Amino acid sequence: MGNVENVDRGILVVLSGFSGAGKGTIMKRLMEKYDDYALSISVTTRPPREGEQDGREYFFRTRREFEELIAQDALIEYAQYVGNYYGTPKAYVEEQLRSGRDVILEIEIQGALKVKERFPDTLLLFVTPPSARELEERLKMRGTESADTIRERICRAKEEAQGMPGYDHLLVNDDLEECVDMMHQVIRSEHRRVLRNQAFIQKITQELSEL
Ligand code: 5GP
Repeated sequence: MGNVENVDRGILVVLSGFSGAGKGTIMKRLMEKYDDYALSISVTTRPPREGEQDGREYFFRTRREFEELIAQDALIEYAQYVGNYYGTPKAYVEEQLRSGRDVILEIEIQGALKVKERFPDTLLLFVTPPSARELEERLKMRGTESADTIRERICRAKEEAQGMPGYDHLLVNDDLEECVDMMHQVIRSEHRRVLRNQAFIQKITQELSEL
């Protein structure tokens, strides 16, 4: 009866995509537009970018502090990305899912696959710009990274493209509003999956048997 118990739980959603694909902007707009989601804030050892605040974009921690979190099993998953650790704190995600809220993790691909392995009913979404040229332009326009970091991120995108077939849905971020609405629709329809509605099926079957 595990599925019946799970029925009111939120859905764990992972949003991945190439660096520069617009994940941050999509998430910000999604949260403004729809009140349905809890966004997990990750822990990282990378230094804050200009304008980023501890506890808002990330929890910024030292390597030592991060390794302490790993040792305490306080992270659902973690991965190294371009020389820094990134990880998802466990407690918040579990609490939100239990209370019936959908939780979105904006994480890279290694972490996404670990989450899927651990929680197979995770919904994996991958966001990409319409073309590689567009990706390069967006990374340069951002102006927060050195040329070397941009190259590293493009190299990483080449590797990440290999993992795209393992995702459930692809979101092409050409028009921001369309992309955000599409993401919302995909999550809404995930709620309608028969597997996630076992309690309703049992209820109506029972009702029918009593007619
Ligand atoms: P950025 O440095 O641009 O903020 O993030 C770099 C990459 O790390 C992005 O692809 C982002 O989605 C990913 N990331 C952020 N938080 C986490 C996390 O908690 N776990 C994993 N595995 N990746 C993360």
